[in-house]
Amino acid sequence: MTSQVLDLAGAGIGPFNLSLAAQLDSIPALSVRFFEKRPSFAWHPGMLLPGAEMQTSILKDLVTATNPTSPWSFLSYLVKHKRFYQFLNAEYEAVPRREFADYLGWVARGVTSLRFGTSMREVCAADGLFSVDTDSERVQARNLSVGVGKLPSRPAWAETLPKSMAFHNSEAAARLGDVKAPRVAVIGGGQSGAEMVDALLDLDTVSSIYWVSRRPNFEPLDATPFTNELFTPSYMEKFHGLSEDLRITHTRRQVLASDGVSASTLKKLYRRLYERRFDTPSAVDAGLFLRPYRDVVEAVRNGPEIELTMRNGFDDSIETIEVDLVILATGYRFVLPEFLHSLKERMSYNSIGEPVLASDFSVVWDGPSENRIFVLNAGRHSHGIAEPQLSLAAWRSAVIANSLLGHAHFDLGQLDPFVQWESQGRESLFSSHMGQAAE
Ligand SMILES: Cc1cc2nc3c(=O)[nH]c(=O)nc-3n(C[C@H](O)[C@H](O)[C@H](O)COP(=O)(O)OP(=O)(O)OC[C@H]3O[C@@H](n4cnc5c(N)ncnc54)[C@H](O)[C@@H]3O)c2cc1C
Repeated sequence: MTSQVLDLAGAGIGPFNLSLAAQLDSIPALSVRFFEKRPSFAWHPGMLLPGAEMQTSILKDLVTATNPTSPWSFLSYLVKHKRFYQFLNAEYEAVPRREFADYLGWVARGVTSLRFGTSMREVCAADGLFSVDTDSERVQARNLSVGVGKLPSRPAWAETLPKSMAFHNSEAAARLGDVKAPRVAVIGGGQSGAEMVDALLDLDTVSSIYWVSRRPNFEPLDATPFTNELFTPSYMEKFHGLSEDLRITHTRRQVLASDGVSASTLKKLYRRLYERRFDTPSAVDAGLFLRPYRDVVEAVRNGPEIELTMRNGFDDSIETIEVDLVILATGYRFVLPEFLHSLKERMSYNSIGEPVLASDFSVVWDGPSENRIFVLNAGRHSHGIAEPQLSLAAWRSAVIANSLLGHAHFDLGQLDPFVQWESQGRESLFSSHMGQAAE
């Protein structure tokens, strides 16, 4: 066991804990260590397909928003790799995900508080400390940072399908090369579903692709300016102060602000469809069959094929298709990691079973307030749709750093947002009460 008591032990080194580690790298007074089970850094390797693009600006990197002089910015990466001018000349509308993953990997090789090839196994809390068992060592820490990401989400109807006939898009890089099935259904109308369809169009072995989405159409990511206000610290702070009911309702309404398909991907697919239909007129719709507004309700395996039954919301009818393979682009869900199970009963949960997060991203629990368990990528319903995205990762890391230090090391003050989200009346009522109380 290491005798030193860490200020923070982190589980998982995806972009979110990597951002925290990079921000804390500038604060030598804090002793921190992060553990990652993979042997080296990898960013959603199963989805690192050729042509995949970022959905966020490169300025929304690990550090810049709150620490622009950090050596771990994307711009530093460009300069260090002698590609600053060529990167600018390339005029990317959306940066290739491969390049951003390379940037993240470069940071992960440079920050010294990171340990790879080491899983976090178990955490116990006693005497004002967390005792953390990893594959290689036991450490004690005052605080934890849980950045283990999310698990692939599979619909109930797909549970009985054999692995050979159905896989989640998170396995795409390993599985697509072996696809021999002529008829494939892609389930899910978000960015991952679109990328699956695009990749399948390149495969000679596939003759029919059915793209099925519950959404009424193949809908774009809304990345327009006022929607992007949802991805600001001011909005996140105000959102966190709302009641749980309102937060859940707003999050559902805002789905296309975070989970729609990039306009560039939609255009690319539409053009591929166009070229296939008009360049090869003999091929009727050239094997791409678009099925929006369809909710799959059942999948029945009949020997080598799968019959999918779908409810069509457009004309309110039932429809079936037969395919040989199903690709589930059905999202991800947060699951409390096993190493926290000894503390499970001590944490508070919201009505949909997610841990309740305070404004500094620490879980509300019955332990000492100086022992915080920060949980990253579990705050969609507490902090808003920006929380599972990179957009505010650098800011969140600075919030956590300030909370660890107990003072405002990072300046997080904001100007008033352009949009007045909260009601003026409510604000003046609140301040008049405050005024009365102070009198
Ligand atoms: C394909 C894809 C593309 C995306 N593109 C964008 C984008 O362009 N812009 C944007 O804003 N957002 C994007 N996102 C959303 C979000 O930014 C990513 O999901 C991001 O990877 C989340 O980071 P994370 O650190 O929470 O989790 P992850 O990246 O999933 O990393 C978690 C890490 O924890 C490790 N781990 C798990 N359990 C343990 C344990 N017990 N001990 C040690 N290690 C453990 C895992 O091995 C993993 O490496 C994308 C998401 C996906 C799926």
